[in-house]
Amino acid sequence: MALKTGKEYIASVEALGLEAHILGEKSADLTRHPLVAPSLRAVAVTYDCAHDADSRALFRAYSPLIGDEVNRFTHLHQSTQDLMDKVRMQRHCGNLTACCFQRCVGMDAANAVFSVTYECDQAHGTDYHARFREYWSHVQRHDLVVDGAMTDPKGDRGKRPSEQADPDLYLRIVERRRDGIVVRGAKFHQTGMVNSHEIIVMPTAAMRPGEEDWAVCFAVPTNTKGIRYIYGRQASDTRKLEGTLDVGNPTFGGQEVLTVFEDVFVPNERVFLNGEVDQSGKLVERFAAYHRQSYGGCKVGVGDVLIGATALIARMNGVATASHIRDKIVEMIHLNETLFACGIACSTLGHQTAAGNYEVDLLLANVCKLNVTRFPYEMARLATDIAGGLLGTLPSAKDLEDPVAGPYIRKYLAAAEGVDAVDRVKVLRLIENLVAGAGAVAYLIESMHGAGSPMAQRIMLARQGDVDGKIALAKRLLNIR
Ligand code: SF4
Ligand code: FE
Repeated sequence: MALKTGKEYIASVEALGLEAHILGEKSADLTRHPLVAPSLRAVAVTYDCAHDADSRALFRAYSPLIGDEVNRFTHLHQSTQDLMDKVRMQRHCGNLTACCFQRCVGMDAANAVFSVTYECDQAHGTDYHARFREYWSHVQRHDLVVDGAMTDPKGDRGKRPSEQADPDLYLRIVERRRDGIVVRGAKFHQTGMVNSHEIIVMPTAAMRPGEEDWAVCFAVPTNTKGIRYIYGRQASDTRKLEGTLDVGNPTFGGQEVLTVFEDVFVPNERVFLNGEVDQSGKLVERFAAYHRQSYGGCKVGVGDVLIGATALIARMNGVATASHIRDKIVEMIHLNETLFACGIACSTLGHQTAAGNYEVDLLLANVCKLNVTRFPYEMARLATDIAGGLLGTLPSAKDLEDPVAGPYIRKYLAAAEGVDAVDRVKVLRLIENLVAGAGAVAYLIESMHGAGSPMAQRIMLARQGDVDGKIALAKRLLNIR
């Protein structure tokens, strides 16, 4: 099957006929909605890159599952080289879009579910792995976008799922039938959800005996009956409705959705965990590790654009050669490349799972993500420092067009010789988008909380860091028994 182009992808999403609650209205025709369309265009880039001459080789991979070439965004990693190529591909998409291009969560979910279903079958005699292979072959053949859905609302954080006042605060099985299951609950923060063809739902945490109804993994098409989408707001999102350069990123944007499952039926062939509590923690850990690796690619790609915009505004302001500016740009490069180094390192030290696909090094993937919770913030601070106060006080694009105000704005926005005032506004708005506007949702807030908040990475570091082994090293050196 030929790999889709971006245009074909958009047509295929349009055919799904999805609806969402957006700004107080129930909206259909989402592919043309001004808040949704930029995010759809960002996903389309992941398709077009598999056709563009300069990126085609990186964005295609041979899938032994279907015996054909697939878009790497649907690939089950077959080597550490594949893991590295995934990160390089994500950096490339970040470079082109300067936003979240939303397609990584499905790839990360699939690689985790692939290995966990295999191990679950070994432990419990279930047949989930064969089901999942069948399901993922369908995804690869049709070159689909799949949203990996993990984060439950979680209610009172001090209580287990069964102790919540409302048991739906963790997505759960409410009925088991001969031909499938019925589920109810919700998933927060769903990146790219209404731009997706499919959803893979996973448990949000390690479940314990007695919590079988919450240990559930399955896949459904996004247009399944009983699923409702409530669109997330982003800072300055209504600028996308204005159609002016105040939007900052003129073409692309990201998207996060609250997704509600109101008694949704899932047929058996799409159920991949059904009460096996001992497998749930492993699934969470693996998905999180793949997604923590992902940020060593996508955030770096966006970081490249932020560094470029910051260096450009310094040039426009006539301060590019000042030593402290040059040093701050170098600092941004150092921070950004450190994140990339982490993404590559956890890939290089990856290993094969029992199921045959490749998994990242867990310790280094968590180091990667913990750095991501800090470095983009520091880069945003440096960009804000260099860009100057205009970042917060710039007049609107509409005033730029005003016959009275416009000429004053152009006159007083003059900077280094030969710099067009409107170009200067564009660069400032792009930086604003990334450090304080709609782009900051993915570049900053998601860097903090996406794929787990910083404490989740610290817990993994404590677990994986082998402190006892390090104590043994010190004792050996000092000859202490
Ligand atoms: Fe991909 Fe990054 Fe968006 Fe996550 S935040 S879906 S890794 S682009
Ligand atoms: Fe994410």
